[in-house]
Amino acid sequence: MKKAEDFGEWYNEIVEKANLTDKRYPVKGMNVWTPYGWKIMQAIDSHIREEFDATDHDEVCFPLLIPEDQFAKEKEHIKGFDAEVFWVTHAGLNPLDVRLLLRPTSETAMYPMFAVWIRSHADLPLKTYQIVNTFRYETKQTRAFIRVREIHFFESHTCHADFEDAERQIREDYDIMAHLSRRWCIPYKLLKRTDWDKFPGASYTVGIDTVLPSGRSLQLGSIHQYEENFSKPYDIKYEDDKGEHRYVHQTTYGMSERLVGAIVAIHGDDKGLVLPPDVATNQVVIVPVLAKGETQKVTTASRGLYEELRRAGVRVHLDERDVRPGVKYYDWELKGVPLRLELGIRDMEKGKVTFVRRDTGEKSLRDRARAVTEVQTTLALISREMLARAQAELDSNIVTVDTLEGLPEKIIRTGWCGGEKCGHEIEGRSERNILGMPVDDEKFTGSCVVCKKPTHIPVYLARAM
Ligand code: ZN
Repeated sequence: MKKAEDFGEWYNEIVEKANLTDKRYPVKGMNVWTPYGWKIMQAIDSHIREEFDATDHDEVCFPLLIPEDQFAKEKEHIKGFDAEVFWVTHAGLNPLDVRLLLRPTSETAMYPMFAVWIRSHADLPLKTYQIVNTFRYETKQTRAFIRVREIHFFESHTCHADFEDAERQIREDYDIMAHLSRRWCIPYKLLKRTDWDKFPGASYTVGIDTVLPSGRSLQLGSIHQYEENFSKPYDIKYEDDKGEHRYVHQTTYGMSERLVGAIVAIHGDDKGLVLPPDVATNQVVIVPVLAKGETQKVTTASRGLYEELRRAGVRVHLDERDVRPGVKYYDWELKGVPLRLELGIRDMEKGKVTFVRRDTGEKSLRDRARAVTEVQTTLALISREMLARAQAELDSNIVTVDTLEGLPEKIIRTGWCGGEKCGHEIEGRSERNILGMPVDDEKFTGSCVVCKKPTHIPVYLARAM
């Protein structure tokens, strides 16, 4: 299946052929992480841990089950999640007095505990995160990594003395996302959701959205300002330096296994996965090209190169399987290994190694003596160029319009006065959802596409994958 012809089919096929997940598990939308897929997810998790640990967040791990009475405390929140929740109604043969639910997200698990943990202003800010599985009863068609019912999930939860400190946290979250996106080579836009599309219970929500080759949007994560919306019902208070009791202001930041889906979708091609070097389980694969009578020489040289790269901290694999080199090339291209080194007797005699980039297919001869440095600089270059290409692709998938008629299958940018009535009309006539208004300043001079009132802020519309 060709990516350009049927993106959806291509995606399903690549996920299956590269063996990233096994969807034959007998519960729909609950897939099995196979070793290769799990290694990619673990690499992403490790980047997230590095970023959040470096910004003074502490990792926690809360129970999976939440009692119904705690879940029901914040009215908007429960309204938003009610229809998506899996319930536990029995313990053994006994019906439970208070039903338990599988966390769809962990506000209602954490906040009763935050109310106990936080006493004074010295306890603030409280910055925590966890990486756990969450559960949502998804009724739309499921798709590996992108729409599932058991979700590998990252969530940070922070508490602050006031609104301003919570806002500082949100700006830090933007910086964290910028760092992570460079490692994952995923471009994105920060878009402030409409009031009718914000997270249930939030005072505002910023979506982290990317664009798929199909011209549809994919939400990678979201950042929320809660103000006191949860701290009031959950009674999370602190004593300030004047002895007064105040409610904390809270934020959250969530991301999920969709990141794996985005990497597959954005970078993959008709030969298979193309993994960013920071994410790749094997950054380099060495394929010895054995010639009759010279096998020992080539094997020894390949093992030497392997050891050298491994000691330099490169994640490298030496493929010594007894199959033709062509078979090995095919397999590692499917698996998305960023850089292949071919070692043959003729190159060796010239003191050279052949480098083949997965992303561009570009082949070059490099000095064997400088192999480690050449590998490191090539991996860094691949990473930069993968992001740059994806960014150009994202930009080309956004079109600015001043009418809602005859829209192309792309992300639409247009004028909106910000009024709710015009907003609903925009969504209805364009048959798309408003993703939101950009958080970053964007030059825009135009008028609301519905009421024609002049505006300096654009709005983004899309169909979701
Ligand atoms: Zn308007």
